[in-house]
Amino acid sequence: MDRTRPEIGRSGWRSRIQLISLAVFNGYYLAPVGKYLCIPVLNCYSCPVGTVACPVGSIIAFGLIRRIPYYIIGVIGLAAVSAGRAFCGWACPFGFMQDLLYRIRSWKWRLPRLANSLKYALLVLLVIALPVALGGGKAKTSTERITGESSGAIDYCGLVCPAGTAEAGVPSLITNRAIRARASWRTWSKVGILAVVLGLAVVSRRSFCRALCPLGALMALSSGMSLLRLETDQEKCTRCRRCVKVCPTASRIVPEASGGKEATAECVMCLDCVRDCPEAGALATRFGARTVMLSRGKPNA
Ligand code: SF4
Ligand code: SF4
Repeated sequence: MDRTRPEIGRSGWRSRIQLISLAVFNGYYLAPVGKYLCIPVLNCYSCPVGTVACPVGSIIAFGLIRRIPYYIIGVIGLAAVSAGRAFCGWACPFGFMQDLLYRIRSWKWRLPRLANSLKYALLVLLVIALPVALGGGKAKTSTERITGESSGAIDYCGLVCPAGTAEAGVPSLITNRAIRARASWRTWSKVGILAVVLGLAVVSRRSFCRALCPLGALMALSSGMSLLRLETDQEKCTRCRRCVKVCPTASRIVPEASGGKEATAECVMCLDCVRDCPEAGALATRFGARTVMLSRGKPNA
């Protein structure tokens, strides 16, 4: 059990970009045009202030009408090649919320690596297989699926998504008496899932991203194609494992030889490891052949 003070608060510049991203993706006035734009971040597009389309909800919507989501595949592919999972680390509002919650002083716990597999099962079952198998008819409206009030919503949005519950479900329940009156056990189970996810985020860093996010699973599957990557200089690295300690997703692997694996697919390219590496030049972030960020070296904390 790790009782140390969380260190994420030192990523001030990343927090500022996450804050801007939160404001842009929930900008309300951009919504009329933005809802056509799919961006690989988890931000419910049923929320009236949400400005962009969520890839998970979009894939489900295509599945329900049994169409191949070429547009979404293209967006995810483009994002994966250009930045990998940096969208998760720098732009996702739900990731930002978890980073903030983890700053709360409490006992801390590292989620076992085995939990990472759960999100792939959710992606296959609740985002692809069940919507396709049960779809074919008239798709339910987004609000019906998000609030879980429709008995036919057997998919990730209708059964699990805590981002939808936080941004659209709970506000609807609070402000709309008719929706509250129609709320079923599924509605309240989603509120329960949201509570568990928020509680877990306080004690375990990025636990939702690692275990329950199907968008994270999609991005992880395609992150190997990314031009943005980490690179360790074998001569300068002292194997102090400081980078492993600060990694929020328990994904950093110190490679034993040049060209070795730098991180697992859970790496969200937050660059905390590069920032905190105590050896100047030992760890670098590269985009293709260009160096984006180099460890500057500082005393071990
Ligand atoms: S923190 Fe830097 S020097 Fe230490 S193991 Fe990681 S890459 Fe090597
Ligand atoms: S390996 Fe480095 S860049 Fe990737 S999530 Fe961990 S700390 Fe962030």
